[in-house]
Amino acid sequence: MKTDLKGLNARETEEWAVDNGLEPYRGKQIRHWLMNRLAASCDEMRNLPKAVRALVEEAAIISPLEEVKTVASEDGTRKHLLRLHDGHLIESVLIPERDHLTLCISSQAGCAMGCRFCETGKQGLNRNLSPSEIIEQVILAKRSLEDPERLRNIVLMGMGEPLANYDAVMKAVGNLIAEDGMNFSHRKITLSTCGLVPEMERLGRDITVNLAVSLNAADNATRTSLMPVNRKYPLEMLIPACRKFPLPNRRMITFEYILINGINDRDQDALRLSRLLSGLRAKINLIALNASPGSEMSAPSMDRILHFQEILIKHHFTAIIRKSKGRDIRAACGQLTGGVVVGREE
Ligand code: SF4
Repeated sequence: MKTDLKGLNARETEEWAVDNGLEPYRGKQIRHWLMNRLAASCDEMRNLPKAVRALVEEAAIISPLEEVKTVASEDGTRKHLLRLHDGHLIESVLIPERDHLTLCISSQAGCAMGCRFCETGKQGLNRNLSPSEIIEQVILAKRSLEDPERLRNIVLMGMGEPLANYDAVMKAVGNLIAEDGMNFSHRKITLSTCGLVPEMERLGRDITVNLAVSLNAADNATRTSLMPVNRKYPLEMLIPACRKFPLPNRRMITFEYILINGINDRDQDALRLSRLLSGLRAKINLIALNASPGSEMSAPSMDRILHFQEILIKHHFTAIIRKSKGRDIRAACGQLTGGVVVGREE
């Protein structure tokens, strides 16, 4: 069986080299070609002798994902549709910011969490992604850019719940931030969760990355109606876990709050949210619902959103209205499906 090298850390890559009859430094060289030079094939690994390249070709997987298509939005957002070796489809989204790019990557094909406002959740979980399938999304995005250095931020907010695929995600993030890996700053990596409390505690112990929590309601009844995970980990478990989450100086937890007309957008919801997050180092991202066609839910008016924001600001929160990019190509928050749309053709 071939070894998926992008899923290995530095030590494991060297061990793989030794197991295959090579000097350990060959492992280092191969890792450099894969993670740093973004090599798409063994032929590109020019400082390796032909025999070593042939061995790598024979014994290792270089590209675990196949690019199916890229769709561009009029706002510059690009959605990459990618096929896994077993045929499942996933998506990653490249989002232009003022002076850099952010890549939103997937951690699972589908998702088991079933959030009511999310297209990914409707298809259920197909399977977890491997560490190399997670990292390859970043490598492919970088390779598609004239200046790969413009890609500075990675957000694990695509398809799937990252903390439900904990070990693979940790391994992938480890390679993203390793100096001899892809060398991203841990300050530039954000992991978003729907609130898996035990894994949040583990994450706080294991690695330093930015944490985003998909909150969407400040009372249990509303949150449970939107996010089934709230039954298992209600607010009285989730919020204390956020309060305990170790934050480096001057960092905050981002709370994502999708505003839905008549469901969680009233003044009393904003006031409840202020009380719930009181004393937390919190930034609140307000996102108008990207309603799927035929959905019974809709986004509030801009006036309502501004008023909701005003209440939070009055209570001394940083509350930002986030414009969803890539809506015209169904690449915005909650719209990623990997081309699978339950109940209709995309
Ligand atoms: Fe899964 Fe996130 Fe969608 Fe919820 S919002 S169903 S956790 S992908």
